[in-house]
Amino acid sequence: MSNQYKKIQNEILDSLKTIVGQKFIITLEEDKEPYSHDETLHHKFMPAVVVKPADTAEVSAIIKLANAEKIPITPRGAGTGLSGGALPVCGGILLSLERFDKILEIDEENLMVVTQPAVITGQLQKEVEDKGLFYPPDPASLDSCSIGGNIAENAGGPRAFKYGVTRHYLCGLEAVWPNGQVSRLGGKTIKNVSGYDLMHLICGSEGTLAVITEITLRLLPKPPLAVDLMIPFSSIDDAVRACTAVIKGRIIPATMEFMEQKAVMAAERFLEKRAPFREAEAHLLVQLDGDDRAALTADYEKIGRIVSDFGALDVLVAEDRPSRERIWEMRRCMADALTQMSPVREREDVVVPKAAIPELFRKLKGLSEKHGVEVISYGHIGDGNVHVNVMKQGMAPEVWERMLPSLLDELFREVMALGGTISGEHGIGYVKKKYLPLAVDAPAIMVMKDIKISLDPNHILNPGKIFDEDSK
Ligand SMILES: Cc1cc2nc3c(=O)[nH]c(=O)nc-3n(C[C@H](O)[C@H](O)[C@H](O)COP(=O)(O)OP(=O)(O)OC[C@H]3O[C@@H](n4cnc5c(N)ncnc54)[C@H](O)[C@@H]3O)c2cc1C
Repeated sequence: MSNQYKKIQNEILDSLKTIVGQKFIITLEEDKEPYSHDETLHHKFMPAVVVKPADTAEVSAIIKLANAEKIPITPRGAGTGLSGGALPVCGGILLSLERFDKILEIDEENLMVVTQPAVITGQLQKEVEDKGLFYPPDPASLDSCSIGGNIAENAGGPRAFKYGVTRHYLCGLEAVWPNGQVSRLGGKTIKNVSGYDLMHLICGSEGTLAVITEITLRLLPKPPLAVDLMIPFSSIDDAVRACTAVIKGRIIPATMEFMEQKAVMAAERFLEKRAPFREAEAHLLVQLDGDDRAALTADYEKIGRIVSDFGALDVLVAEDRPSRERIWEMRRCMADALTQMSPVREREDVVVPKAAIPELFRKLKGLSEKHGVEVISYGHIGDGNVHVNVMKQGMAPEVWERMLPSLLDELFREVMALGGTISGEHGIGYVKKKYLPLAVDAPAIMVMKDIKISLDPNHILNPGKIFDEDSK
């Protein structure tokens, strides 16, 4: 595909310098290196140039130039993506949005925040919380990912179970289309049925349909109280059945997370601390939030009664901040703990209907035994989103390279057979595109390609992601 693109010559570099200024162009190899990878880590593609525009007019001018000259252009937020969406796989221009780093307005009358895309999600949350407001989507990467990247990926997080994902808070966007034209879509209204919903088409499109330059998000009042519960179980089946019974009992926790025993052991080694109930096959982490202490207490007591019917080994309750932090410490360090165990690992984020989780675990055990590789899982049990980690550890590189595609193919087929899909929140990007036909039927993929071609006939915007445009 890269044959169809023009190489970046000096006159293009000069034009880019005229648009953003010399200071905001990077061409030196060592300075471009941080932009050549994301958190998929083992994939690396060097852009010809990194460009850092200051405003929407500059983004528009850069995209117009790229479109006229047929140069690929890849938008990048904070580079924490786990599907390779921000990798410049066809070279060309890496468009870093890092200078779009301001929260523009916290509107307390309309309960909205207007922000530029490079604002770090955790920082946005903190600033609205300082005003008693709440932006619920909470990807585990919130201290390092950008809100623009969250829109592009339609990011989720533990609180998705009660509060939904990024898309559910999106009310307005300013976006630059692949021809360089700028649109303002939606605004500070919750309702909007004026024509096709292009704003939500852009949300989750992984930077392939438009570049996001401004975002309006709706906010909620911040629930003032929260309680966390850690509930160990001697079997994963019991943990899932208990989780379903809690929901049937009409309690909707803010989060319902789980860690299998091998994940807890990894966290234990990483933190150099003994985990509570390390003999348990699964740990549930439940967070309840609200504004009525008595109601929260009644809910967690009810949860206690329900889970004990399903063989819970204990219910550890944390109400003050330090004990709540302790309960979440293991879950929060999980990514680092697994990386410590195996610097090379495949991270998948499959999703299945909640009731199918025990069956998914049986399949995972089977795949692990069949392929002779350790598989460790944790994730969001409340919404069936399981983070499956295939650990390379000491496996020879050639064996790993041969084994992994067939394990993933089998895993994704099993997940589809269970009524799920291949990505809950990390996206398809570059690394999963060959598996998309397992999850999306051929007519739907055709519609996706038609949308892409009609918006971006020259395939300049983030080519090589989700599907190969020229493989129609
Ligand atoms: C430890 C860890 C934990 C994680 N936990 C979660 C989790 O719980 N839930 C979850 O959903 N994800 C999670 N992620 C994945 C990742 O953080 C999210 O996908 C996040 O939304 C990416 O944001 P980013 O700013 O880093 O985007 P990048 O990685 O820079 O880019 C991601 C995609 O967005 C596009 N993009 C970025 N900015 C723009 C823009 N302004 N306009 C158009 N396109 C743009 C890029 O082209 C690319 O396709 C985790 C990652 C790590 C490393």
